Amino acid sequence: MSKFYADSMLGKLARFLRFLGYDTLYRREESVEKMLETSSEDNRIVLSKSSDIVNKCNKLSVKFLFIPMNDIGYQLKTLHDVLHLEISIPPLNTRCSMCNNELIEKSKQEIINLIPKGTERHHDRFWQCSACGKIYWIGSHWRAIEKIITEAKGG
Ligand SMILES: [Zn+2]
Repeated sequence: MSKFYADSMLGKLARFLRFLGYDTLYRREESVEKMLETSSEDNRIVLSKSSDIVNKCNKLSVKFLFIPMNDIGYQLKTLHDVLHLEISIPPLNTRCSMCNNELIEKSKQEIINLIPKGTERHHDRFWQCSACGKIYWIGSHWRAIEKIITEAKGG
C-alpha cells in the first residue's frame, strides 16, 4: 500500500488520505530537506503543489506526485489516475484524520458515553482512534466524501 508525505499546502488532501486508510504524513514545521529525507527512508511518495519541491525530488530520486490543482475531487482523481489508488467508501482500513493512527471499529455499547447524545440513534458503525481516542462515524461529512470520490472515479 502506498505511503505519502503531503506538503504543507495539502492538509485537506492529507486528511482525506488518512481517512481512506493511507499512511500519510503532513509537513508542518519540518524543513523540505527533512521531508525528502524521511520520504526516501520510508519509501513515501511526496505530494506537493510546489514545482521547486518536485524539482528537488527529481534531483534526489525521491518519488513524488505534482498536485497543482486546488479542488480535492481533482486531487483525488489524480491519485486515482496516476497511482491507481484504491478509493473505497466506507474504507476497508481507515486512519485518524488528526493523528494518522489506525482506527478500530467499536460497537455502539462501547462508545455510547463518548459521543454526542442522540448520535447513536442515527448511526450504526463507529470507529475509535487507537492513539488519540477520537471517535468517527458515518455522518454527513462522510457522504460528502463519498460524492467527491464517486466523481473522482467517474470523471
Ligand atoms: Zn487519532
